[in-house]
Amino acid sequence: MADLYLKNATVVDVRNKVLKENQCLKVTDGKFAACTEIPADAKVVDCEGKFVAPGLIDAHVHLVWDGRSPDPMTDTVVDGDFVSFARGCENALRSLKAGVTYTRDVGSCHDTAFPLAESINRGIVPGCRIIPCGGAIQGSYGHCPMIGTICDTEAELIAKIKQLKAMYVAHKIAGPHWIKIMASGGAAGLEDVGPCMYSPKELETIAYEAHRLNMKVAAHALSYDAISKCVDAGIDTIEHGAEMTPEILQQMKEHGQTWVPTLAVYKMLAESRGVVADIIVDKSELVTIKQKASFAKAMEIGTNIIMGSDAGSANFGPHPSGLVEMLAMEAYGMPKDEVLRCSTVHSAETLGIKNYGAVEEGFTADFVILNANPLTEGVSAYMNELVCVYKGGEPV
Ligand SMILES: [Zn+2]
Repeated sequence: MADLYLKNATVVDVRNKVLKENQCLKVTDGKFAACTEIPADAKVVDCEGKFVAPGLIDAHVHLVWDGRSPDPMTDTVVDGDFVSFARGCENALRSLKAGVTYTRDVGSCHDTAFPLAESINRGIVPGCRIIPCGGAIQGSYGHCPMIGTICDTEAELIAKIKQLKAMYVAHKIAGPHWIKIMASGGAAGLEDVGPCMYSPKELETIAYEAHRLNMKVAAHALSYDAISKCVDAGIDTIEHGAEMTPEILQQMKEHGQTWVPTLAVYKMLAESRGVVADIIVDKSELVTIKQKASFAKAMEIGTNIIMGSDAGSANFGPHPSGLVEMLAMEAYGMPKDEVLRCSTVHSAETLGIKNYGAVEEGFTADFVILNANPLTEGVSAYMNELVCVYKGGEPV
């Protein structure tokens, strides 16, 4: 692949939240490199008047689900794994085209996200990069069993965690490696949100086994019971996390744990009376109220937050949803440039994705060219002013 040069670029430094004007960027072997002078016969893109910013990273998606459906969970059962895989291909490409260049898939039927990630990595199908957690580990009568694996005993938990590690190896996925558990019920189902699905000892076993195998754990946790037990057990990211107390947020800050709030999906469900079952609307209204308060508190305390959307959820609209989530983060009071940082370089660092999420020397050249400044205009620059997307230095 020939080197690519971007001249007259205004680079969006998402780490320091500043613009760097009049930059020359060189992309060689898919990575940003130092640019000295542009050779006469070089491939050059003139970025005069435009902004070069990193691709977005969504830490919570379900690529096998289509959010235009009222019931994507049942769709995976009716359609089967082959159609679900094809849907995953479509959604990964939709994400990439919209500037979401990296995702963490936190639940797929029969671990479908593994072959999906491998197929994209090998260039068999085009799409965003994926950390595939595989099926979400959960107890019987859990949340979304259609995209999960039932593990009720410690022996089953340990066996499944080892199997997931083996799948990362078999599918040649270099890392980082994450697994997902369902620690409480959900708002989008009919089950009780309440009690934690696993005992403290079982949660410790999950964290121990995963960490021992150099993997990290994301936990779906909405109730205080589930959140507090997961945080105590050393789970790495708390997904959704409605009932967060100031003490929990402080504890997470001290122990380097992260909250992935997924605000927009619950806001949407809370506003869907008449469209979805009343019980789901009722539960979502409660979640939304609690999330709003917890989000403000987390920012005040300084708890680590990264962007995750729950893309693919029922009635949430087509992939990607990360941009909608960023809008919700802005609406709930996070400064626009901080939302951008939490959706790019900070997300990459938290997830352990090395050298992604910034337009910096040595970083993988997953970037967008925009007509507006996303530090001041926020996510609307990605939504409305997107000129083009590059993955690994190649135009999409
Ligand atoms: Zn989810």
